[in-house]
Amino acid sequence: MALNESQLAEFENQLKAWRKELQDAHSKSLHHMQEDPETYADPNDQASMETERDFEIRIKGREYFLIRKIEQALNRIKEGQYGICDSCGGDISYKRLKARPVTTLCIECKIEQEQGERTHN
Ligand SMILES: [Zn+2]
Repeated sequence: MALNESQLAEFENQLKAWRKELQDAHSKSLHHMQEDPETYADPNDQASMETERDFEIRIKGREYFLIRKIEQALNRIKEGQYGICDSCGGDISYKRLKARPVTTLCIECKIEQEQGERTHN
């Protein structure tokens, strides 16, 4: 385990703050969607409203994906698995985790994965 306890606590706080930020943004836009039900009365408006809603749902899909990744990272901290590469079991560097706290691969495996993807394409 390359990370000490205070570094783990630091990541835990960072991840929780990030999750809260995403959830706050999410509940704000949800509130916005529920406002003004009168807009739905006009069938012409309804079509454009639905496009807008599809767009919001797509954005939320991305937020949810990220929130899930953050929760997985928080679980890994709890289980003492955080900062360990999923692929080779080696340590992920502190610097890499700082830049990308939800990553599950060390830089070597990430590069390998990206090169692999390029080869298969
Ligand atoms: Zn690795």
